[in-house]
Amino acid sequence: MRSPRSGSAGSATAQDELRRKLRAGNLPEDLLMPGRDVVLQFGERTLTRDELRAKAGHVAGGLGREGVKAADRIAIYAANSLEWVIAYLGVQRAGGCAVMMNPDYHSAEAEHILHDSEPVLVIADGPRAETVQKLGYRVVPIEDLPRGDAPPMPRLTPESPAAILYTSGTTGRPKGALLDHGNFLAQGRGAIEVWRWSSRDVLVHALPLFHLHGLGMGLHGTLLSGASATLLPFGPHAVVAELTREDDRRGTMFFGVPSMYQGLCDWLEDHPADLSGVRVFVCGSAPLPPALFDRCKRLLGQAPVERYGITEGGIVVTNPYDGPRQPGRVGYAFPGVEVRLGELDEVLLKGGQVFGGYWRNPQATSEAFTPEGFFRTGDIGEIGEDGTLAIRGRIKELIITGGFNVYPREVELVLEAHPAVLEVAVAGVPSDKWGEEVTAFVVPSGSKPLVESELIEFAHEQLAAYKCPKRVIIVDKLPRNAMGKVQRSELTSPAS
Ligand code: AMP
Repeated sequence: MRSPRSGSAGSATAQDELRRKLRAGNLPEDLLMPGRDVVLQFGERTLTRDELRAKAGHVAGGLGREGVKAADRIAIYAANSLEWVIAYLGVQRAGGCAVMMNPDYHSAEAEHILHDSEPVLVIADGPRAETVQKLGYRVVPIEDLPRGDAPPMPRLTPESPAAILYTSGTTGRPKGALLDHGNFLAQGRGAIEVWRWSSRDVLVHALPLFHLHGLGMGLHGTLLSGASATLLPFGPHAVVAELTREDDRRGTMFFGVPSMYQGLCDWLEDHPADLSGVRVFVCGSAPLPPALFDRCKRLLGQAPVERYGITEGGIVVTNPYDGPRQPGRVGYAFPGVEVRLGELDEVLLKGGQVFGGYWRNPQATSEAFTPEGFFRTGDIGEIGEDGTLAIRGRIKELIITGGFNVYPREVELVLEAHPAVLEVAVAGVPSDKWGEEVTAFVVPSGSKPLVESELIEFAHEQLAAYKCPKRVIIVDKLPRNAMGKVQRSELTSPAS
């Protein structure tokens, strides 16, 4: 196995010691620090650290009165709001394990998560509360959280279960990744170090809170660093407004997924803005196309810092804050994280943020780790001369055409550079002749006519023939999930 340069190279014992330090503590004690300063804003409403701490304590008291005991699972099925944060921290304060649910899930998807995680209680908002009730689970409305006297701090260790986050399920049914307190603390502390997060920062936070990106990085990082955050539903206009405010709540950091950067750039093209008050833009959860990286550099006034992560393994690799930010590459390992390439160049991870296993799924857990204890991400990596990692796609997305292996991302990178292409996803469509046929689903840029034969010819100039698309299908948009990831399974039908 080859090994890239780690963010903090050192002997195995030094790395283990660093990981132990990064994991030390527990969420209620480390996240709920006292303070009179505003920590969160949503619309016109703000909360100080003292208010947040008191509210979480009262919810913990209320949950206790509802019969919730330490380590019990409590699901949260609601849209982003201050109540969401209070509910979540109330669960942590009670020593419970929070089950994160995507608020966009419909009844059948919600049922899978509830059936799998068996929560003692579900906290839900609006119509979702009805769905949960119909499914036969105990529900409390998030608008009317149970309250009681704050109980004593729970006795928790870094190994105590903190949350179950379900994988995106882009291939197969979502699996519950059980993350402990140490995983989240190592995650948050790592993010603070690599992006120089300080108490002077204001994060503009438009990411879903149920996902690791919005929760483990956005919310926990804010609480751990002493900074503050403005939560808002994503909209380019609203985000730019927060990043250009003229008061002390002006955003200094923004975390987004590539589709958000696409939206921001489209907006800024017509409404230029001075974003020089922003210290750092971080991008991840899906590949940032090099053309979009360049557009961001021009329109945001700085290159975004692209980073890489996965629910089970944490957000663990990033382009440097100080050094060059390279398009198409995700950079160096976080402190205490080791990255290696295994068979088929699979990215393997070890680190304080790497989970211990899947919820009630010992078989998936044992398959997920190498004998040396590295987590198998299922992503294909490449490590450059300078020690930086690049992601070349997922092993399961590999297309086998006429007996040859084609990695869709390699083909997408070529097609994205064509002026007639705005976005592209490449997938294998079943074919009698080839087994799978390399097919490009393209959203046209509109600035140049898109001619199928020209695009295929363009691919032939740069790629071996077997990698080139046999067909180009024009689509209005690509099917993406809440984190902006392309749902390739929805692309493979020739009728689509
Ligand atoms: P999730 O568990 O929902 O966070 O999804 C993790 C997956 O997203 C990874 O396994 C990668 O396939 C993909 N991913 C995350 N960040 C990046 C990135 N910067 N570039 C390419 N793929 C990424």
